[in-house]
Amino acid sequence: MAEILVLGAGMVGIGAALALQARGHAVTVVDRRGPGEETSFGNAGVLQAEAMEPYAMPRDLPTLLRYALGRSNDVAWSLRDLPSIAPALLAYFRASAPERHARISRTYAQLIARVVSDHSPLIEAAGANNLIRRTGLGEIYRTTRAFDAACARGEKKATCYGLRLRALAGTGLASEEPAIAGETAGALIWEDSWSSSDPGGLVMSYAQLFRRRGGRLLQGDAQTLERAGTGWRIDTGTGLVDAQHAVIALGPWSGSLLLRFGYRIQMLLMRGYHSHVSNTPELSRPYLDAENGYVMSSMRDGLRLTTGVEFVRPDRPQSRRQLDWALHSAAELLAADMRAEGKLWHGHRPFLPDMLPLVGPAPRHEGLWFDFGHGYQGFTLGPTTGELLAEQLDGDTPPVAQALLPAARL
Ligand SMILES: Cc1cc2nc3c(=O)[nH]c(=O)nc-3n(C[C@H](O)[C@H](O)[C@H](O)COP(=O)(O)OP(=O)(O)OC[C@H]3O[C@@H](n4cnc5c(N)ncnc54)[C@H](O)[C@@H]3O)c2cc1C
Repeated sequence: MAEILVLGAGMVGIGAALALQARGHAVTVVDRRGPGEETSFGNAGVLQAEAMEPYAMPRDLPTLLRYALGRSNDVAWSLRDLPSIAPALLAYFRASAPERHARISRTYAQLIARVVSDHSPLIEAAGANNLIRRTGLGEIYRTTRAFDAACARGEKKATCYGLRLRALAGTGLASEEPAIAGETAGALIWEDSWSSSDPGGLVMSYAQLFRRRGGRLLQGDAQTLERAGTGWRIDTGTGLVDAQHAVIALGPWSGSLLLRFGYRIQMLLMRGYHSHVSNTPELSRPYLDAENGYVMSSMRDGLRLTTGVEFVRPDRPQSRRQLDWALHSAAELLAADMRAEGKLWHGHRPFLPDMLPLVGPAPRHEGLWFDFGHGYQGFTLGPTTGELLAEQLDGDTPPVAQALLPAARL
């Protein structure tokens, strides 16, 4: 049994803490906020069992031109911030070359294939079934051309990975999901994916499970982490805590902490927004409005619209452009008056240009471990990479974990 500090109480940190605890280690999680209050709070809440291939950067000229000219709601960017992110974007572009992407997908598919079975026992033990829908993820297409192309791509992917997929024509969608009153060409339903009506609440319920099983959750600043003899020490609200191992699971903030230890992590912080609208009809599952670049999902606080990616420096002020586009598009689909309520939330997907999270021992510091960089799918993958990290810490590196190791990639 080892004493282990996990820094960060998002889905990734709590997932790792539970996996380490299950192997008999004494685990303390430290966060400056409560569990699941940052990126793991603000996402679209989809447990993406269909995401067998990580999102590659499009390389075809028409799509790149649409992005460049601001004619897509998937991606927004700012000219003044482009130089600072250009090297990471270029690395992402290179990793997205078809052959390399296929190789990365072989690893990714092995991770995604087990996410439902990794979340299931936690959902049961945490008593969180009321936060979970097992109704799939929908992709809505407005034009027949886009729908036909998506059906062809979808069928290929479903066959390749053994996923359950249903294609619904526009009329079929309208009768299955009466809230969608606007005209559509059709939808694809990925039946294996699950979703949460309260993503932050799900992380909180996992954190409560961790605590019930004897884990410690403390408030403190991860920036106080330092070497102490052969182990690690952190200053928390209840004093100094020492441990043999420290796991960095700070999501988008992992890179800034690791700079202090001499690691320069090339990470794209892909901003996304969400807002809620109340008094809209309930949807049975989340839907991606594919040609308009946002996801809508019924949540505890109303219908949540989450946007695509904005490439700006993390300290830049918010822009409403993508969310307003999403509101306008959702109003058409639901034939409803869509006015955003409350504060506009934004957070950053912590994305590594080679599309895989970094999971494993820090290359130059004994007892320091990485578990971050989950990009678009950290809510989905937290328990899975937590389990892989726990296996490594106990001296076993399963084959799928080899591709995630920091030593080979930094
Ligand atoms: C708009 C949007 C939609 C998304 N939709 C989905 C989706 O549908 N499905 C999916 O799987 N993923 C989705 N994602 C991605 C997913 O949300 C992230 O990959 C995931 O939440 C990352 O989890 P994390 O635990 O690494 O980070 P976080 O949840 O951000 O946790 C990091 C923790 O570190 C703490 N911290 C930071 N600095 C310090 C410090 N100095 N001291 C102490 N604590 C600190 C923070 O308080 C925080 O609790 C989406 C992301 C966005 C932005």
